[in-house]
Amino acid sequence: MSDDTTFGSQNDLSGGDLSRVTPRRDLQKILECPVCHLIPSPPIYNCLQGHSICCRCRPKIDKCPLCQAAYTCSRNFALEAIIETSTFVCDHHEEGCLAVLAGKDFQAHVVQCGFRPIICHLGSFHACHGSQVGVKNYLSHLITVHKVQQCERTVGNSFTVAHILRDSNVSDVSWCGKYVEFDGRHFLTRSFLSMGIFHFCLVLLDEDQESSQYTVRIKIEKRDSKNRTFEIKIPVCPIRMSDSLIIEDCLHGMLNKSLLRMLCDVEEKIDDTLKLRWEVHYELMKLS
Ligand SMILES: [Zn+2]
Ligand SMILES: [Zn+2]
Ligand SMILES: [Zn+2]
Ligand SMILES: [Zn+2]
Repeated sequence: MSDDTTFGSQNDLSGGDLSRVTPRRDLQKILECPVCHLIPSPPIYNCLQGHSICCRCRPKIDKCPLCQAAYTCSRNFALEAIIETSTFVCDHHEEGCLAVLAGKDFQAHVVQCGFRPIICHLGSFHACHGSQVGVKNYLSHLITVHKVQQCERTVGNSFTVAHILRDSNVSDVSWCGKYVEFDGRHFLTRSFLSMGIFHFCLVLLDEDQESSQYTVRIKIEKRDSKNRTFEIKIPVCPIRMSDSLIIEDCLHGMLNKSLLRMLCDVEEKIDDTLKLRWEVHYELMKLS
């Protein structure tokens, strides 16, 4: 790494040569926004005490997280000029990203960078505590920590996952899911109950853009006299999508509890609660 502490513009940003990066990484730390910890994109605003904040975070909070002072309309033009004329190493350099970025492009790259870690969505299971894992190591994390391969593994494009909700009054539950091998790739079913709504989708364990090659038909049916069925065809989601992003995006399947109950086997228990059991059938397809 260079000891050069001067700021200067670079035209050729290819190749990941750190000796051409200004400023140094420790200085890069000082410049970062105190909220998102990224190099701030202009316009950069100040709090009454002079701490800066990036334009993406400014609308989200009222008080400076460093000193609790209110924000002003005054801009930090010197910092904006430094960032606009400098180049930076991607935040995920240690994970393998070689990108060297112009200040104005930094935030857009880092939030989409293929080397950014996944926050494990099975964080509440098996003492994982929401580990952050690189996409290339995530499969081995799922196998060693969550044992997905041993308990629920399937090969092929058609499979079924059974769900049991022991107490129908519970409104937030996550199921561990099934690990699927198809087309030389690894997929994982994701299903959870959030605020009483059952959400379900299939994710691909690979880079985000790869998931657009696949789509999945999902069906929940109750085999009784009324033959009730719910069916939906949806895109396969990237593994990096958090549960909250899946909910926001609405590109997945969802059922509220009363609809779900119509598709369930219902077992009444002595204490007035219900035990629900249902099966979700998946048919995975590759788009040509
Ligand atoms: Zn920020
Ligand atoms: Zn402040
Ligand atoms: Zn990167
Ligand atoms: Zn985990």
